[in-house]
Amino acid sequence: MQGDSLSRYAGWPIIIGAGLAGLMAALELEEPCLILAPSFTGEGTASTLAQGGMAAAIGPEDSPALHAADTLKAGAGLCDPAMVQRITEAGPHAVETLLRLDVPLARDEAGQLALHLEAAHSRKRIVFAGGDRSGHVMLHHTLQAARKKETIHWLEGTLEGFYAPDGSLQGVWSSAGFIPTGRCILASGGCGGLYQHTTSPLANRGITLALAAQAGATLRDMEFTQFHPTALIAAEPTHRLALISEAARGAGAVLRLEDGSRFTEELAPRDVVSRAIAAQLQQGHRVFLDGRTLPGGAFSAHFPAITQACHAAGYDPDNQMLPVQPAMHYHMGGLKVDHKGRTTLPGLWACGEVACTGLHGANRLASNSLLEALLCGQWAGQDVNACVADASPTIVAAPPCPTASTDWPLRVEMQHHLGILRTRTGIEQLLERTLPLARHNLCALTASFIAWGALHRLEQRGAHWRDDAPGLQPARHYDWHLHDLPL
Ligand SMILES: Cc1cc2nc3c(=O)[nH]c(=O)nc-3n(C[C@H](O)[C@H](O)[C@H](O)COP(=O)(O)OP(=O)(O)OC[C@H]3O[C@@H](n4cnc5c(N)ncnc54)[C@H](O)[C@@H]3O)c2cc1C
Repeated sequence: MQGDSLSRYAGWPIIIGAGLAGLMAALELEEPCLILAPSFTGEGTASTLAQGGMAAAIGPEDSPALHAADTLKAGAGLCDPAMVQRITEAGPHAVETLLRLDVPLARDEAGQLALHLEAAHSRKRIVFAGGDRSGHVMLHHTLQAARKKETIHWLEGTLEGFYAPDGSLQGVWSSAGFIPTGRCILASGGCGGLYQHTTSPLANRGITLALAAQAGATLRDMEFTQFHPTALIAAEPTHRLALISEAARGAGAVLRLEDGSRFTEELAPRDVVSRAIAAQLQQGHRVFLDGRTLPGGAFSAHFPAITQACHAAGYDPDNQMLPVQPAMHYHMGGLKVDHKGRTTLPGLWACGEVACTGLHGANRLASNSLLEALLCGQWAGQDVNACVADASPTIVAAPPCPTASTDWPLRVEMQHHLGILRTRTGIEQLLERTLPLARHNLCALTASFIAWGALHRLEQRGAHWRDDAPGLQPARHYDWHLHDLPL
């Protein structure tokens, strides 16, 4: 679709991304809206890859206060307590939303919702569906509901720029052309694709973070990247790595070295387990996840989708130990938003993984992100409903022309210098490479922001571990704008 035909969307709310956050926002909107995404099948979303499920305090011995306490503890002093309280209190409502969408959440023999335990949760509180295909099932039902809503329109393509000449949004450039609008909800996911080893869709490279920064929006705590401890080692180094969910360790799978010895507490927080594995790998050991003798039955019966991924990689989890390594999994940093999802750029909202809401702080508690995507998507949609549309959006013709390439050496260098263990020397080496490219290469710009944050955060907090700056400094956020980088 080109030029003129896009003018019918002028002034409409535009949603970027068709993962859980974007679809939830669209379902809330009371007026016609447009979703712009490369695909509307779930392909290319992290949402559809989620295995474990969604955290919510609905168990008989649980409470939002306990859920909040676990979230705050994982966040290592950088969570926004008010946001943590708001989201954990709304957890049971998020479960109701899923049930209203007919998501077939798993139930126990008594017909109650079944709950998983995951690392660093003090109670069983993860609702799940389709065994280990929770995200796929949740997204499928959300997509079905969105398709039935006639006021939702769909445009296949990508975001290529924001137009905000006077400090507020006046339009978006898409690969199909320019759309004048004063209201956009960015729900474009994370930036795992910037890294060599990642469990995220490779197309999620943080390009939209760079575009938002170019338009003047504030980025917060960009250095906080979470590495999942157990990604299955792939034969082909450039591929996305299959994840072996924390739920496998929750069900009793253990970590071993090549000689069968154990070396860490499997259900410790993610960053602790990731660092323990990284240290073993650095010493030349190989690390395996052993799920051969789970107390509750065969691995394949518990985790059918993970088993399928293992088989595709040539492993049989019921009878073999699985070779694993940590991989970039989730970005806690992102676009700074307030409790309504508003970024610092008027007219631009953000929700889901691209946003930094204050829920995760320095480290995300497992399964809190689907919860955040669902609720913050809804809240952003509700806030857009409350905003009056700009009656006369400006029409602009000329498209911008930044490139978004992430070359393979950059992904390798990100892994090496901005991975689990970081030093000033490594971060500076990375910046020497990315800063000269950052004006014209959006991936290099986002990488530069992550490195810039890591350079300035001289401490070991949550998922950010500076080998050369032991201990904690007083808790603070780092907010960045384009002009902060020495470009
Ligand atoms: C393997 C894996 C397992 C996980 N398991 C869990 C779990 O069990 N529980 C949990 O809570 N969390 C889990 N997570 C994290 C969670 O899935 C994500 O944080 C969450 O789904 C993010 O949702 P989102 O809607 O923000 O982004 P996504 O679902 O990633 O959707 C982003 C959308 O934006 C689109 N997009 C990107 N760039 C552009 C662009 N330039 N223009 C237009 N569109 C664009 C994408 O194509 C996609 O449609 C997991 C993540 C991974 C990778």
